[in-house]
Amino acid sequence: MFSKILVANRGEIALRVIRAAREMGIQTVAVHSTADSDAMHVRMADESVCIGPPSSTQSYLSIPAIIAACEITGAEAIHPGYGFLSENANFVQVVEDHGLTFIGPTAEHIRVMGDKITAKDTMKKLGVPCVPGSDGGVTSLEEAKRIGEEIGYPVIIKATAGGGGKGMKVAKTAKDMEKAFQTARAEGKSNFGNDEVYIEKYLTTPRHIEIQVFGDGKGNAVHLGERDCSLQRRHQKVFEEAPGPSITAEERARIGKTCADAVANINYIGAGTIEFLYENGEFYFIEMNTRLQVEHPVTEAIFGVDLVREQIRVAEGLPMSFTQDDLSINGHAIEVRINAERLPNFAPCPGKITQYHAPGGLGVRMDSALYDGYSIPPFYDSLIGKLIVHGRDRPEALARLGRALGELIVDGVDTTVPLFHALLAEEDIQSGGYNIHWLEHWLENNLGDG
Ligand code: ADP
Repeated sequence: MFSKILVANRGEIALRVIRAAREMGIQTVAVHSTADSDAMHVRMADESVCIGPPSSTQSYLSIPAIIAACEITGAEAIHPGYGFLSENANFVQVVEDHGLTFIGPTAEHIRVMGDKITAKDTMKKLGVPCVPGSDGGVTSLEEAKRIGEEIGYPVIIKATAGGGGKGMKVAKTAKDMEKAFQTARAEGKSNFGNDEVYIEKYLTTPRHIEIQVFGDGKGNAVHLGERDCSLQRRHQKVFEEAPGPSITAEERARIGKTCADAVANINYIGAGTIEFLYENGEFYFIEMNTRLQVEHPVTEAIFGVDLVREQIRVAEGLPMSFTQDDLSINGHAIEVRINAERLPNFAPCPGKITQYHAPGGLGVRMDSALYDGYSIPPFYDSLIGKLIVHGRDRPEALARLGRALGELIVDGVDTTVPLFHALLAEEDIQSGGYNIHWLEHWLENNLGDG
């Protein structure tokens, strides 16, 4: 059993990990930049180490500083949260080389899934359905145009190293190909240091459905159903729910089993998410995330499990605390991402919180590192909280979301809360009748965001 773990992250996700560890009787070490000396994760952990200046490349992304913090404090394992070093295979290698445990998958799994072409290839071989497209990388414009004709426009050109919605460009017709191809390559190069791209059929009305999987690293794996994350702005999720309003029990069992079998086959360890686009009753694999997702709480709510606790357990070599047969869905959960951003253009809005009041009551979970008087630094992600509601069914969860949003007070900065009040008034949100383009159209029509 670990006696002390280090949390290589900040904000709400650092608190999330500290809370799970504390319930397991494990001591925690927070790391922080000089900009985060007063942050909640530093206050809540048992110990803390300042690892560098505000810039994340010199602090939260500094591998030597994080390893040194483990050595100073005697932490035996590292939980990376999401973002930062969570999907960095080199980091995992360094952690292991220092005799420490990475709470997450192996360097090899991260490497395979981090390269989108290799990931797609691997999944295809494991029997997971994929979006039609190029066979691997596309190196010339001529080849790109030929593939465009072959699979039929519209197509999407994607950087193989891409992530977070960057490095993806749509070509509606052959005329758009040159620009889309060059831009995707340039974005891949400048954001991820890799200009390799591949091409996929662009689906016009899909939903984003992702399957939560969990493995013990010894060939056993389960699935925890799906999350529907179709409400996105610029390919970034803003509202997530589970179960998916459009998915039947039969579809869930079928795609869930395909995913669980695939990860069992590769001895996957820990939490993972297999992302699909879903259109006309078919699932098409787009990518796998080898870490805990921001939206994991909706899955926790409907299955009644603690995914971080499970991550820590399997990292210690313990078995998972549930089998597939133990897992059944109870009710419906929705998460909204509360960002410090100013509408209508979602401009980051850091600053001092003059008043904060978290909603409460039955079926309400607020994961946030805010407190009265806290100053949100301008250096990091604008996510300041996640509000998760759970109800017996979807209508109850929606009503609870409206009620909880009404109780939430975040004064001093602008937030995305007004967006969610407005969305709840929409018939398509109430009925669940939306796809991945719905929110962008709505924003254009209602806020002039475009
Ligand atoms: P990232 O790694 O940047 O998150 P993904 O491959 O997961 O990129 O895609 C993110 C989002 O982009 C998807 O949720 C979807 O909205 C859109 N997208 C990706 N591939 C396609 C496609 N083939 N057709 C239509 N939309 C797509």
